[in-house]
Amino acid sequence: MDCPRCSVELAAITNDDSAINRCPECGGLWVDGTDLSKILLHANLPALSAIGGQINVDELTGMCPACNVDMVVVEGGEKLALHYDTCESCGGIWVEGEEADEVPEAIDWKAAGAELATFFRAFAKKK
Ligand SMILES: [Zn+2]
Ligand SMILES: [Zn+2]
Repeated sequence: MDCPRCSVELAAITNDDSAINRCPECGGLWVDGTDLSKILLHANLPALSAIGGQINVDELTGMCPACNVDMVVVEGGEKLALHYDTCESCGGIWVEGEEADEVPEAIDWKAAGAELATFFRAFAKKK
């Protein structure tokens, strides 16, 4: 699978039967819907469907790394300042990375999962 932004190969970080994929270039994270559900549950967060958000059809997205179809942008959080991309075909989620110079060299599954949990905790906040 390639990064929807940089077209470099994503690095898979696996834990038991779950995987998070990180782009070594931009630090973006790709996770499938089932694995994200587990992470949200573990972090005592509501399911993604309950977290909500607004689809912004005018925003440009990348292609789903799994299905090669266009993803959609979902905006949420305070003042809709946060967004993630999702593939309506496979349910995968793409979360942008931090600034490039802050991308950690190596990251384990727990840290990547915590990063996703932090993102969705902020995303669940209403204005
Ligand atoms: Zn990237
Ligand atoms: Zn897909």
